[in-house]
Amino acid sequence: MGKKVIILGSGPAGLTAALYTARANLNPLVIGGVEWGGQLMLTTDVENYPGFVDGIKGPDLMENFRKQAKRFGAEIINENVTSVDFRKNPFQVSTAENNYNANTIIIATGADSKWLGLSSEQKLIGRGVSSCATCDGFFFKNKNIVVVGGGDSAMEESLFLTKFANKVTVIHRRAKLRASKIMQERAFKNNKIEFVWDSEIVDVIGENSVTGIKIKNIKTNQVSDMEVQGLFVAIGHKPNTDFLKGQIDLNEKGYVIHNGTRTNIDGVFVAGDVYDFRYRQAVTAAGHGCQAAIDVEKFIEENNL
Ligand code: NAP
Repeated sequence: MGKKVIILGSGPAGLTAALYTARANLNPLVIGGVEWGGQLMLTTDVENYPGFVDGIKGPDLMENFRKQAKRFGAEIINENVTSVDFRKNPFQVSTAENNYNANTIIIATGADSKWLGLSSEQKLIGRGVSSCATCDGFFFKNKNIVVVGGGDSAMEESLFLTKFANKVTVIHRRAKLRASKIMQERAFKNNKIEFVWDSEIVDVIGENSVTGIKIKNIKTNQVSDMEVQGLFVAIGHKPNTDFLKGQIDLNEKGYVIHNGTRTNIDGVFVAGDVYDFRYRQAVTAAGHGCQAAIDVEKFIEENNL
């Protein structure tokens, strides 16, 4: 039997939408992905989610989100969505295992940070390697930090990190930044920020936490070591929207085009990092999940679904 609402994604946006739609008696089905929980599953301490005075581990916070949504009757399955059909209502959502139908959909599949792809980097995520200065900058007081990337995110993260760090070194693979002029100027003016050009990080050093990196100058092929305690990877994000192509309007970077929580398809709503490339915070994503749920409730009521 078809559902009234299916939520795609099980990060803060998806599970908050689940909580609110469950409490509105809409019996939501959350298709949460095989690796459920979103970006917070990759972090250790979360100290900026309100309500947790002493902080909370990212995975523990998501476990709480999940339990709370379930307590009110949300059904959560750990399957990956492979395709959708939004051409007519009820909409269809397919996973490798099953097809599901619903009158409304909330897309909350998030965006993944791009990583350099080094095994040493992956091993040290949450232990000195981070993709979010707002989240983790505070843990690097008086430390030496490296930021990799040359776009606006890298400049923004570097500037933010100078509030805590002893020194911030930006490592960029070219000799010219991609960032907007104004962000470049701000970064150049800040005397805590240094630049290493035409270089890439080839290894992250450290057993339990980051102690250094190996940098290769791609013009000379010379490899050198740098002692640092933190590595912030700011080389962009990829929204998880490949399965939506051709079904819904996406921008050139793949983010869902939206008006509030609405998309170009009536009855299909959106929440969290899958459209929001600006704030990217758990608390903002949770807020969007709440908004989408309330909008879904109204839509169902107005259309007698
Ligand atoms: P971006 O503009 O795509 O920049 C990514 C940067 O990372 C580029 O400099 C790129 O180098 C580098 N890079 C990519 N892959 C790499 C790899 N494998 N190894 C090393 N370096 C790599 O991404 P973004 O900075 O996240 O910005 C995304 C969008 O959000 C942009 O439109 C940006 O303007 C906007 N944004 C705006 C603000 C603001 O206005 N305050 C803040 C944040 C983001 P190349 O330059 O060589 O390609």
